[in-house]
Amino acid sequence: MSKKGRCPHCEKPIGLQQAIFANGNLWHVEHFICTLCSVAIGANEGFHRLDTKRQACDRCFEEHFAPKCYKCHKGISSNLVVALEANWHRDCLRCCKCDRTLKKHLHQDSFGKPLDHDCFWDSSSSTRLLAKLKRSTYEEKEEVFRATIYCT
Ligand SMILES: [Zn+2]
Ligand SMILES: [Zn+2]
Ligand SMILES: [Zn+2]
Ligand SMILES: [Zn+2]
Repeated sequence: MSKKGRCPHCEKPIGLQQAIFANGNLWHVEHFICTLCSVAIGANEGFHRLDTKRQACDRCFEEHFAPKCYKCHKGISSNLVVALEANWHRDCLRCCKCDRTLKKHLHQDSFGKPLDHDCFWDSSSSTRLLAKLKRSTYEEKEEVFRATIYCT
């Protein structure tokens, strides 16, 4: 006798039905749903863990929970980077002068805008002085969790 849990959504035993293992629990396939919009989340779709029994689909997460990008003001559900005390989409974090995406190390100008290495050293010495050689790094965060299918 294998020990099978109950589906956290309907609280009925999983039995021999196909189940999905996601967010640390076994669920009936049709019961692994977004807590906010009640749409079923498929095995290959990303979801966002809210707690052990609740999760949000990509769309809802972006709308309700995701940190907002400093540049484009849209929610960030993946490729989040934290730099200069703000959150950014990885692609939105660009040098304010040449618009190239920034590598791990970045500088900031006297207004706190991001600069890459080349533009930093091209800028006037007064800018550099004001920026006080403030170097930063950014931190990447992977916010998307993937469901895995569990075959009974
Ligand atoms: Zn169920
Ligand atoms: Zn949703
Ligand atoms: Zn953005
Ligand atoms: Zn640049």
